[in-house]
Amino acid sequence: MLIVQKYGGSSVADAERVLHVAKNIMKTKAAGNDVVVVLSAQGKTTDGLIAKAQEINPKASRREMDMLLVTGEQQSVALMAMAINSLGGRAISLNGAQVGIETTNAYSDARIRKIHAERIENELERGNIVLVTGFQGVNGHGDMTTLGRGGSDTSAVALAAALNADVCEIYTDVEGVYTADPRVVKDAQKLDEISYDEMLELASLGAKVLHCRSVEVAKKYNVKLLVLSSMVEAPGTEVKEGSNMERMLVSGIAADKNVARISLIGINDEPGKAFEVFELMAKEKVSVDIILQSTSRDGKQDISFTIGKQDLDIAKAALEKHKKRLTVSEVQYDEHVAKLSAVGAGMATNPGVASAFFEAMYDVGVNIQMISTSEIKITLLIAEEDVDTAMVAVHDKFKNKSVSMRKD
Ligand code: ADP
Ligand code: ASP
Ligand code: MG
Repeated sequence: MLIVQKYGGSSVADAERVLHVAKNIMKTKAAGNDVVVVLSAQGKTTDGLIAKAQEINPKASRREMDMLLVTGEQQSVALMAMAINSLGGRAISLNGAQVGIETTNAYSDARIRKIHAERIENELERGNIVLVTGFQGVNGHGDMTTLGRGGSDTSAVALAAALNADVCEIYTDVEGVYTADPRVVKDAQKLDEISYDEMLELASLGAKVLHCRSVEVAKKYNVKLLVLSSMVEAPGTEVKEGSNMERMLVSGIAADKNVARISLIGINDEPGKAFEVFELMAKEKVSVDIILQSTSRDGKQDISFTIGKQDLDIAKAALEKHKKRLTVSEVQYDEHVAKLSAVGAGMATNPGVASAFFEAMYDVGVNIQMISTSEIKITLLIAEEDVDTAMVAVHDKFKNKSVSMRKD
């Protein structure tokens, strides 16, 4: 078998963990498999590098940030190669450029375009364990790029697809995908399996156990994807094509604190205003998420929407500049908000899910600012300080009411 494994930052945080993982990798190899391993930077290395850059230049270019950040992953693969070699194995470390991972030009948020498999295949043929840096590639200018925070998962899945691997194993600091973040909800349950679509929703709504794009790639190329613990041996979670037989009503709860809300008060209630507002955001490359428009009163209306916190400064500047043209009388901003979402493929046909969710918020006295629904999710915007309590409450509600039971 050809197995791609990925180990996250906490799994390779120090020498002891590196050696532990090295043994795990060697065991897989000794069982007769070809092994390609993707590693993240150790522990909080990436955060540390970002902090270092901030000290020197808070407005550093994205290109130079990427030059800096790719070094974290490079340390990990080199150290892991040393660990494996010291234990009598044979490993070689490669960075994104050496492998030939081609990406789009967008520094700090690049997408993988193409992976050249030859170098890795040659090394495997020589009997080497191949260690590849996560989260990076090379763009059309020949520069190093990164794939966005958490992007090593995507490197691993993309490599598994390019190499036609039998399985892609994502090793992390929890035992799999749970019904909610197990660090917040103590009695969250591990899922044996979850569909690509549900996992995609959970990941895009803030469950950082998998990078959203890794799930997209897995679905597109039908990669067998497993999420497992690097610390304990236990069956993890398989992410796979959903079967209609086992649709969960609610499969998970996710929270995202990387959210800001903007409210435009007193806009003229006439055709074209929403278009002007969101055209402006699009021009500034600000992605907009939940949108809420009030009904008209005295010929005026309000429009509220959410964006990622990182885009708030850009959005603020643009809105203040065009306030008059947009006929906005007041712009309000709130960065202390969070999204809390329930995801489940069987939700569409069951109105009880929404009311149970709202009841849970009422039970713990949490105010709902915005609501957004789709076929397989309900998202509420609430105050950031309430999000952990609210997550526990809504998880409890679905558990006790057995709303999370399988649909028949
Ligand atoms: P790694 O460094 O291995 O990439 P991450 O920190 O990116 O690990 O992701 C693992 C973390 O994701 C867990 O420690 C957990 O707190 C968080 N998490 C959030 N939602 C979930 C969920 N539904 N299931 C499992 N883990 C989750
Ligand atoms: N080291 C990068 C990060 O911390 C990528 C990753 O861990 O997936 O975001
Ligand atoms: Mg991660």
